[in-house]
Amino acid sequence: MRILLVEDDVGIGEPLVGGLERQGYTVTWARSGSEAIAADPHDLVLLDLGLPDIDGEVVATRLREASAVPIIVITARSDEIDRVTLLDLGADDYLVKPFGFRELTARIRAVLRRASSGAPIEDQQVTVGRLQIDHRTRTVTFAGDTVTLTPKEYELLAFLASDPGAVLSRDEILRSVWDEHWWGSTKTLDVHVASLRRKLGDPAVIETVRGVGYRLAEPVS
Ligand code: CA
Repeated sequence: MRILLVEDDVGIGEPLVGGLERQGYTVTWARSGSEAIAADPHDLVLLDLGLPDIDGEVVATRLREASAVPIIVITARSDEIDRVTLLDLGADDYLVKPFGFRELTARIRAVLRRASSGAPIEDQQVTVGRLQIDHRTRTVTFAGDTVTLTPKEYELLAFLASDPGAVLSRDEILRSVWDEHWWGSTKTLDVHVASLRRKLGDPAVIETVRGVGYRLAEPVS
């Protein structure tokens, strides 16, 4: 597993690199945003938001444009944490400084596990109405257009599409797509659903079943 650590603070970066390498990870240490953007593809990115050259938010957006690599944001700005902004950036999780090394490695394992397993779906390609999901390449098209999704949005859509037409409860969705390390707020789910509806361009695709959960409303062909 190759991790790209983006951190300008040597006092934080050095022990992190050492600790992660002892855990068996291969670590590339980028000390600026431009180094991070220029780096080769990695399996996971640890991204400090406070960078000397480019705003961490911009770095996250650029990385996300290039790939679906899982991103864990590291920030000192706990009071400025805005989960909607982080979701828009495509972050998979975040840690507020100071954090423990155990906490970090638990988050890394959880994010990598989610990224590699995805929803338990046997078919590599799923077509439901206008929606097509290719699990091999993790790409989504809707009515013929490619839709760019964050890893979480993708997992959520894949989960809904695994049982099209069925009402999936909020609990089921949160348990399957998120885990105990995420924000803990069920609002997260609504934010992702809203974002998916916007990106798909047709809010009716994901139907709200009041008091229960959501269902994929595309007709099964
Ligand atoms: Ca910093």
